Amino acid sequence: MTLSRIDETFSVSGQIHETDIQAIKDAGFRAIICNRPDGEGVDQPTFNEIDKAAKKAGIETSYLPIVSGKVSDEDAAAFDKILNELPGPVLAYCRTGTRSTTLWSLSQAIHRSLPDILMATKAAGYDMAGVVRRITNGGKTPTEKGDFNFEIVIAGAGAGGIATAASLKARKPDLEIAIVDPADIHYYQPGWTMVGGGIFRAEQTSRTMGSLIPNGVRWIKAAVAAFEPENNAVILDGCRVVKYKRLIVCPGIKLDWNKVDGLVDTLGQNGVTSNYRYDLAPYTWELVEAMQQGRAIFTQPPMPIKCAGAPQKAMYLSGDAWHRRSVLKNIDIQFNNAGGVLFGVKDYVPALMKYVEKYNAKLNFSHNLVAVDGPAKKAWFDVSKPDTPIERIEMEFDMMHVCPPQTAPDFIRVSPLQMPLVGLTLIRPHCVTKAMTMSGHWVML
Ligand SMILES: Cc1cc2nc3c(=O)[nH]c(=O)nc-3n(C[C@H](O)[C@H](O)[C@H](O)COP(=O)(O)OP(=O)(O)OC[C@H]3O[C@@H](n4cnc5c(N)ncnc54)[C@H](O)[C@@H]3O)c2cc1C
Repeated sequence: MTLSRIDETFSVSGQIHETDIQAIKDAGFRAIICNRPDGEGVDQPTFNEIDKAAKKAGIETSYLPIVSGKVSDEDAAAFDKILNELPGPVLAYCRTGTRSTTLWSLSQAIHRSLPDILMATKAAGYDMAGVVRRITNGGKTPTEKGDFNFEIVIAGAGAGGIATAASLKARKPDLEIAIVDPADIHYYQPGWTMVGGGIFRAEQTSRTMGSLIPNGVRWIKAAVAAFEPENNAVILDGCRVVKYKRLIVCPGIKLDWNKVDGLVDTLGQNGVTSNYRYDLAPYTWELVEAMQQGRAIFTQPPMPIKCAGAPQKAMYLSGDAWHRRSVLKNIDIQFNNAGGVLFGVKDYVPALMKYVEKYNAKLNFSHNLVAVDGPAKKAWFDVSKPDTPIERIEMEFDMMHVCPPQTAPDFIRVSPLQMPLVGLTLIRPHCVTKAMTMSGHWVML
């Protein structure tokens, strides 16, 4: 018997036997659900036999037999009800665990996001791609057929999506293009550096999405939930289907603020700021303007990040403001970079170094921000140098500008578009990373 943990309250397994019950009890389970119909296999104990042994061990049971490949919407609803009634943690089993995992995935569709469900089941060794449409439809079998069909579908209407749509339309005006994006507002993110530097107002960096969608391009105002490259289809939240001949995927990158302990609790106060958020960039300038003396730390996480220059640009613009106000000599600027060089393209480094020297900034490479205590004005960095164990150091600050750790959006991470990649191009200076997946779809991050 192999138990596969889906989350802290639910696990699945293949067929169990009476002799497994003690181990199941010892593992802390308080209830068992059987999803395998009696008599499916010749060496299979009946539910009654399992039930008797479980009851003897003080474990509750429930029988919801499912014929292989035939999990109905009613079955999923019944499973949800049973899960709510039984004491946890619960172990569900069938022949291999797939039916139990499918039931759990469908039952959770109204409680959790699709990426959460797919990540949990994938980590347990079960691929739920076959029921993605039903999960996006709240656990129910969709009744509508695909209602959209375009030559080009672009997922994401940020800088990448809008620019690609405009460029394609300019070259080939009769192309049928759809852009899928749920956002009402489009942000010009490079402008946030200027907001943090006191040059732009935040409002100057936002436009309504509708005003930027190129003429003749259809805007589908919805989020892409999943991809079905084998059917040339994307599935939207709510389970509408959009078919395409070519798909371009540019949903941006996820800012992983929670990866730094204590950061979320203190962002926007206690001197902790970030130009990576529209609402926080004005706070950067507020801090810079108010600062007369003390220590200012600027952080950069491990790659990949969008705009490798933005963490430094915050530092240079702050240094410039302090220089103009003649307070620079009182300010200790520290640039704590998880990477090992000032900039990945070495030709740019000499020019940047002139400003590092001008503002007397101390460069601390291999310093990765891992925790912050805003009220105490302290931050912790893991310092990793070759051939030496990682050392955690503490630094005090008066102001800290944080560039957050970044990662692929959840719905991309669990999708069939993920690696392996066959081509990878970094287009400079626009900081757009373009990669072609095995299935021939373009992904821009
Ligand atoms: C502070 C800062 C400074 C920067 N400075 C520069 C600079 O000087 N020069 C430069 O070239 N670059 C700079 N950049 C980077 C640049 O802004 C980004 O690289 C660029 O915005 C990426 O464009 P994108 O379209 O890939 O993603 P984004 O612009 O982030 O857009 C992603 C879009 O996808 C949508 N989306 C997300 N999930 C879904 C979904 N499930 N379904 C459908 N749509 C979805 C979102 O709503 C969003 O509209 C900077 C970035 C920041 C934060």
